This record gives sequence, structure tokens and C-alpha cells, in this order.
Amino acid sequence: MKTLNGISASQGVITGKAFLYLDNGMPEIPRHTITESGVENELARLSKAIADAAAEMESFQGKITQEMSKEQAAIFEAHLMMLEDVDFQEQLAVHLKKTLQNAEWVVWDIAHDLIQKMTASPDPIFRERAVDISDVSRRVLTHLLLIKKVYLNELEQDVILVAHDILPSELLTMSREHVKGIVTDLGGKTSHMAILARAFGIPAVLGLSNATMEINSGDTLVVDGGTGKVFVNPDREAIEKVKKIAKQDQKLIAEYLAMRDLPAETKDGFRVLLKANIEISEEAEHAGEFGAEGIGLYRSEFLFIVPGKSAEEETQFEAYSRVLKAMGGRPVTIRTVDIGGDKILKDFHDTADEKNPLLGWRAIRFSLALPELFKTQLRAILRASVYGTVKIMFPLISGIEELEQALHLLEEAKAECRKKGQAYSENIETGTMIEVPSAAMTADILAEKSDFFSIGTNDLIQYSLAIDRGNERVSYLAQPVHPAVLRFLKKTIDAAHEKGIKAAMCGEMAGDPFVTALLLGLGLDEFSMVASAIPPIKRIIRLVEMESCRSLAAEALQGKSWKQNAVLVDEWMTKYKLT
Ligand code: PEP
Ligand code: MG
Repeated sequence: MKTLNGISASQGVITGKAFLYLDNGMPEIPRHTITESGVENELARLSKAIADAAAEMESFQGKITQEMSKEQAAIFEAHLMMLEDVDFQEQLAVHLKKTLQNAEWVVWDIAHDLIQKMTASPDPIFRERAVDISDVSRRVLTHLLLIKKVYLNELEQDVILVAHDILPSELLTMSREHVKGIVTDLGGKTSHMAILARAFGIPAVLGLSNATMEINSGDTLVVDGGTGKVFVNPDREAIEKVKKIAKQDQKLIAEYLAMRDLPAETKDGFRVLLKANIEISEEAEHAGEFGAEGIGLYRSEFLFIVPGKSAEEETQFEAYSRVLKAMGGRPVTIRTVDIGGDKILKDFHDTADEKNPLLGWRAIRFSLALPELFKTQLRAILRASVYGTVKIMFPLISGIEELEQALHLLEEAKAECRKKGQAYSENIETGTMIEVPSAAMTADILAEKSDFFSIGTNDLIQYSLAIDRGNERVSYLAQPVHPAVLRFLKKTIDAAHEKGIKAAMCGEMAGDPFVTALLLGLGLDEFSMVASAIPPIKRIIRLVEMESCRSLAAEALQGKSWKQNAVLVDEWMTKYKLT
């Protein structure tokens, strides 16, 4: 038995067979000239590859059973139509005869040309088609090159996914019913890979550095997402231990669920709100089961980064309406798209263009640079607002100018709705995410134009301590109790209260029971987290008194290092029997 240690990214223990998901890309496409007499043969290879690709799609289309089935089926339908399109086939044949190049090169050449033209189009529908063409041509190429490619959305058996890295878009489209666990070389606790694993309730251990070297497909694995351990080909003892933990977890879950309708109130009657973070609209339907009092963060960009998904106003309107209806009047904070960083929108981003994507064209910067796209989103939110209580929040604000521009575009979007006679709620609060150090430092200025703050600690920690949140090598430095982080939090919360607005937190820190008392003591009004984290946080809130939380916070603010603060909090938790 081998034991690998990584970063605990999503709770839960699971045992199963490893599936090594390695090459997401294509090998180099071979190019050679063929003779006139070889044309027939090459055309026959091409037709067979297209027919095989179509047959593969057809067979899979019938088997789709997962949650996103309708949307996925539509994507498959579009891809099939493209494969069966006689004009497309004719174009390939003509190009092959004219250039006398091998079939692989012809497919790649034509696809590349089309993708470039479509990506440059101002029309989002055409840009979206570029992704479809890329997918379809890759599928044909895998048949021509005789590559046995397994797509994550076509898994047919339960597996534990072992990969170097997985893109958020791959996680969104993978077959969730069959991926029982996730193990990766890269990634940190607050990476979007980890956030999605938690959202889907899939146990995950990330940042193992060498998992893909140490594990073979077919190995039996035990993944303990709670401790960050992965056991490769475990002995009987390890399996028994894991079964015991799973049983205890079940008991705990039952206890937690019993707390669902109790208020998040300290022993001395201080009430806070506990809300859920969601990435896809379906999650809203389950948030209430954990006692979520609203959605504190809807990461709307995940609507856009699924390949073949549409950024159209109607698609967005439907998704936002669905969440609002599911929450039945409880508030829903929709964050405008946070595209960029590790969440790439293929139609717009060429990653090679940016040396430092995390410091680059991301979030509100992206939206302000593409005002029509931004206003499309704002109109969709406005129109959906009639179905509940919506709040709008802007990500990665670094100064007042960006906030003012965003608010100005919101007014334009409202005027456009009015012009079209489209109804929207008049009482939509607009908030600022505090996740850049400059925003925390100027929180008093931003508060003037904000109805609320929501602190994004994942980014605030990343930017204030200069730690790439997805880089496992430096993740040991990402310490929420670092004195600098606590000072930023205090400054932000105090600035909010001085202006009479609420301070919420939607970074992963809000769902970490170790810092709940500390955050209460700092005066945080709302905590938003993955829905399943709500019960343990509520348990702590109901066991503490505000007075002692305040003295804990005051002492931590005097702390000289994160280590000193970690010891302080640990001792405090032990004293109050909260561990
Ligand atoms: C954050 O940065 O804390 C946050 C909530 O936003 P995201 O994790 O999506 O960047
Ligand atoms: Mg963020």
C-alpha cells in the first residue's frame, strides 16, 4: 500500500478504481503530400473517420442521463448535424483534392481557418460555433489518428479521476454520476477545481504533485478528502478505517440536518445570516436542505464556460429565474461574470496573450471592456428580478472608478429594459466584492456607492499575500489568520458599518469552522459558503457568545504572525469545547 499526501479539498471518503485522465490535448498533426492516385484512398479514410465520429456521438447521445442532460443533448445534436453536413464534407474533399495533403492535415487546416474567422466575429453565436467546430474536428482527428480518447462526459463506469489538472469547464461537463472522487497533481484549497468538487459533493484531494506518476489506471484507491490522504492499493485495515469514517460522517450529517430550521444565533442572541454559494443553477434547488437563508454568491461565469453554451440573454434569463424561483423569495446575490484567471472563455481569451492571467483581463475588467456583453447579463438579471429578491455584485473591484462605470452601465441596462417594456424590480441592491487589497484599503470610499460588501477572501488572500491560489507549492502560505488578512477584514467590516451597510463574506474562509468565532468577533454580518458547510458553521455560532468572540478577535488583531494566531484560535476553540 502506498500513501500519498495532498491538500484536503472536498470532504468525504470514497474507495474505487483509478482512471488516469492524462492527455487533454492533441499530438502534433502529421502533414504529408499524397499522390493523385492516393486521393481516393485518403477520401475513404476521411469519410470513415467522419462516419465513426458520428456513430460514436449517436451511441453516446442515447445514454446521457446526468443533470445537464437536456443542454448536453442539444450540444451533441449540433455536433452531429455538423458531422453530417454535406457542405462541410464537400469542403474537406475539395480542399484535399486541391492541396493533395493527407486527411488529418486537411481537417485541421479547414477547422483552424473556420475557428479563426468565427472567433473574430462580433456575433456571439458565431464565436460560440468556433468551440463546436474545435470539438467536432478533434473528434474526427482522434478517429483518423486512431487515438482512443475518453471524454469525461462519456464515462460509463464509476471512477476516481486522477489527473494533472482539470479545467473548470471539464468538471462542469463531466459525467458527475460516474466521477466518485478526484485526485490531482495541481490545485489548492481555494482553486476553482476545489470549489466545484465541493459544490458537487465529490471527495477530492488536490495538489499531490506526483499523483499521475504514482497511480496507474485500474489501481484501487481510497480517497480521504477530509485528511488529504490517498491510499493506493490499500490493505484491509485502511479500507476498514475508511468505512468507519464514512459511517461517522453519515451520523454527523443526520445531526446537522436536524439543525436546518434553527436560527444562526449566538447564545447571547446575536443573529447572523448563513447563505449558500452556487456555481450552477441546479444547486439552488438543494441549498435550502442545508438551511441556506439565501444565495450569497452565484458564480454566474460558470454559465458561460461550458463548451457550446450560449451567452445569450435568454439562456441567462432562464438560469437566473430558475435560481430565484427555487429560493422562493429568499435573497439571491448574482455576481456578474468573473471570467479570466483560470476561468477562460475560449471565444474571447487566448491564454498565451497574458503572462499573468490572475493579474490580467479578469472579472469586472473583462465586463467593462465588453459593455454590450456586460449589459446583456445585466438585462437578463434585471428581467429575472421579478421572480424574487435579487442583488447584483461586482467582482474584483480595485477602485471607485470601476464601481462607478459598472453602476452606470447598470443604469443603461435598466433604460434598455424600460424601452422594451420589460419589467424589473425597482429595489435591487448593488454590492461590491472586496477581494483586492486596494478595495479593502479604500472600503470607506467604496461604501459610499455600495449597498453591501461581500469579502472574497480567496482572492483577497491570494493578492494580499502574493500566493497563486491554484499553486499547491505555496498553498501552505495561504493563511486566513495572517495578521495582514485580519487587518483587511477589520478595515472592510468597520467601513461597511460606519456607512450603515452590511458586510458579508463569500470566500472559502466563511465556511471554515476554525475561524467562525473570529469572524463573528470582527463583526461579520453574513457568511456564504458551499451549502453543505452551513450546518457545522451554524453549530459553532449557536455555541458561542459574542462577547468572547469579540475578545478573541481583538487579541488576534494584535497577533504578530499567523502561527501565533493559529495557536490562539486553537486554544480558544479547545477552551469552549468547539473542536
Ligand atoms: C473569492 O475570491 O473569495 C470569491 C468568492 O470569488 P472566486 O472564488 O470565484 O474568485
Ligand atoms: Mg474572487
